[in-house]
Amino acid sequence: KDSPTSNEEDQSASKDRQPQPDMDNLRVLARQSYLNKREELKLQVLIEELAHLEGDIKTHGWNSLSKSEQDEVELKRELVALVQQRDKNNDEGFQFQDDYIDQEGREDSNRKRQLLQRKYAPQTENKSRQQLWENQQLRNAVQSTKGEVGVDDIHVEGGQDYEFVFDDEAIIEFTGDSNEDVLPELESEYDQKLINELDREQARLQTIQETRQSLPVYRFRDSLLSAIKENQVMIIVGETGSGKTTQLPQYLVEDGYTKNGKFQIACTQPRRVAATSVATRVADEMNVVLGKEVGYSIRFDDKTTPEKTILKYMTDGMLLREFMADPELKKYACIIIDEAHERTLATDVLLGLLKDILPHRKDLKLLISSATMNAAKFADFFYDAPIFNVPGRRFPVDIHYTLQPEANYLNAAITTIFQIHTTQALPGDILVFLTGQEEIEAAQQSLEEIAHVLGSKIKPMIIAPIYANLPQEQQSKIFDKTPKDCRKVVLATNIAETSLTIDGIKYVIDPGFVKENSFVAATGMSQLLTVPCSRASVDQRAGRAGRVGPGKCFRIFTKWSYFNELDPLPKPEILRTNLSQVVLLLLSLGVTDLIDFPLLDKPSIPALSKALENLYVLGALNSKGAITRLGRMMCEFPCEPDFGKVMHTAATHGSCKGVLEEVITIIAMLHETASIFAQGKADREGNKSSVVGKVSSDHILYLETFNSWKDMNYSRSWCFDHKVQYKTLVRVRNIRDQLWKCCDKLGLVALNEQAVEQLNGDDNAEPRIVKSFISGFPSNIAKLGASGYHTMGAQQGGVNVSVHPTSIVFQSLRKDMVKPTRFILYQRLVLTSKEFMRDCLPIPREEWLHEMVPHYFKAKS
Ligand code: ADP
Ligand code: MG
Repeated sequence: KDSPTSNEEDQSASKDRQPQPDMDNLRVLARQSYLNKREELKLQVLIEELAHLEGDIKTHGWNSLSKSEQDEVELKRELVALVQQRDKNNDEGFQFQDDYIDQEGREDSNRKRQLLQRKYAPQTENKSRQQLWENQQLRNAVQSTKGEVGVDDIHVEGGQDYEFVFDDEAIIEFTGDSNEDVLPELESEYDQKLINELDREQARLQTIQETRQSLPVYRFRDSLLSAIKENQVMIIVGETGSGKTTQLPQYLVEDGYTKNGKFQIACTQPRRVAATSVATRVADEMNVVLGKEVGYSIRFDDKTTPEKTILKYMTDGMLLREFMADPELKKYACIIIDEAHERTLATDVLLGLLKDILPHRKDLKLLISSATMNAAKFADFFYDAPIFNVPGRRFPVDIHYTLQPEANYLNAAITTIFQIHTTQALPGDILVFLTGQEEIEAAQQSLEEIAHVLGSKIKPMIIAPIYANLPQEQQSKIFDKTPKDCRKVVLATNIAETSLTIDGIKYVIDPGFVKENSFVAATGMSQLLTVPCSRASVDQRAGRAGRVGPGKCFRIFTKWSYFNELDPLPKPEILRTNLSQVVLLLLSLGVTDLIDFPLLDKPSIPALSKALENLYVLGALNSKGAITRLGRMMCEFPCEPDFGKVMHTAATHGSCKGVLEEVITIIAMLHETASIFAQGKADREGNKSSVVGKVSSDHILYLETFNSWKDMNYSRSWCFDHKVQYKTLVRVRNIRDQLWKCCDKLGLVALNEQAVEQLNGDDNAEPRIVKSFISGFPSNIAKLGASGYHTMGAQQGGVNVSVHPTSIVFQSLRKDMVKPTRFILYQRLVLTSKEFMRDCLPIPREEWLHEMVPHYFKAKS
């Protein structure tokens, strides 16, 4: 028999769920408990949880949730809506400084709580409870009028309705409706769960504050701040992990440099991963939501809020771009150039530009933070700026070398990991320095396989990779505390050398290699090379083992090699990279005297001329070396000028136009090639096999992959079925949107649409796509000769290059499904066992070269 209550509900409930009778009560209780606690951060837990749940719902559908989960979601939705409404009513900015930080910089937590309470006190509490009550009444009223089944009826399925009639004599009397004896309400189980969560969050914050104060830089807080007050420029040197990146910017905020939100503080990082990870951490420490007061800005991903963000972690490249919109960086009160010793191209150019504007911006503070190497050079560059030393702590690290050179350092590293794991006591985590994603994935796979075979013979190992393209959700794994009786093995690129500090590392394994971009002006070729690191780098790496206690570093190279083969310092990027983009940027900023532009290290004249030549070929400069309109447009794009040119051609060139959308999709995909197809090389080849021979180039494969996904409504299961990484495609879609917006702003979209209309959809897009890419990458073209392909950029014959085995072109050629074309365009050269071209686009007709870049190809071919 159905009970009367459940029947009532059937009628009032929405189609897919039935509220429990005590839900409203629970809501009131939960709301009380929340609003009584009234701390924003706790509400944040809720908001995040909800976001998570909503994500699940989107993917798996509402009905995949159990009844209780559905209730939970509904409750959370209501609470979050309440919080948002309240926040909307409450414009007053967050008070960071003054109020709750005392003279010594200590935080008065009571005062802070008061402030927070005042800020977040719900002005609508009574009203909304009132509303709730009213709603309830209304609902009851509606139910009792509209239903055929009255409250007093008994309903039997399939039967008729009976009236419930009391026998007068059976009535028992009770005391009246007094409020004297009331059994207090129990806090419901769910409510208790919330409260527990809130308490855990509080405890976490407590430890964060303790950790902050235990960092070496904390002792120097005041002297640092007063030194900053007195000097416009300062170099800050300190051991990695002493708190420069996470603490300094916070001290500046606390010291009032942002003038209550009028100005911002920027902290640049050479690496995207560092910018996002540190911003996340600092938002946590400051107890704010990431993207609000504390945010980050990296290419294609801006997590800041205008008018609200006061502390922004960003890549050095992004700050460089900001010079275009605001040449004096007026919105910043302080700029911290972090990890300056890395000497990336963008950092070097930034330092030059900043040196230029400092005299006009007397109120701007510039802090350059660096590991020990190079500090004097920076001080020199800024007219003897003072160097502030933060003495760090570092325990001794035993260094071990191999007796002989190891032919396969990856295998040697894996063996070493197990040697350490089986012989050295716990706790003590291992950090391994590898050169890139592929190597890390390979190592992770071997480690997992071996660990699986060894099974319970060894203690459990947690393997945590970290590299630039690792999805953000997985990045935080490296910071998770290692469980007891377990060892964490972090497989990192040189991002863990100085940018990120991982606590608990006791062993470092260092094969001594790094992947570097290398550009040879004479050949005009840019490639990614694996090269030995400098002595300074391997020493930095070893230092990572000595943070928590005495540590050990295992170098997979010989002592002789350390002293005789390694360069003392890494080579600054400006001396080994293609300068086109930077030269274009400087020209667009009005810096025409490139030779005298202040730089720590001057690039060679051939490198500069090559860049100018390249820009001229692309049409970014005219024959007098002045920047053209097209050149300015290319600067606006958040990507290399070559890609800018491709997009411009695709929208405007007489024999290409109308393929802007296709080209943008391909370019967006090319930005994420490393992780589009599911992991593992075998897989990667496997999942392409169905299209071998059908698709002529990697470019078209990318285009078709994206479009199929788009046609399937961006579905997650489509990705799963086709072994494509969903998250990567989501990023691609985001990049694509941004490029599209940028093209729209520049008027290219409108031009493209006109062209599409004229074409009437009956023209094959592929030749136009190929031509567009030729226009942007004339120097990335190889020609087929007697001994295979060779590059054409060089004066004397070029270099032999092969199609990379992961390319669809390679597979088509191998299976004899197509004949090699005489010319082929590549996006990247990689030198491993030989010189490989990655992401290949065969050029079916030679005339296209003459047509698209006449001044480049007439003379040569
Ligand atoms: P520095 O810039 O001087 O090298 P940091 O400010 O990066 O030092 O790091 C200071 C401390 O903060 C380190 O102990 C580090 O472990 C910790 N830390 C930094 N980022 C995170 C994070 N995302 N999660 C946990 N701890 C972190
Ligand atoms: Mg740092």
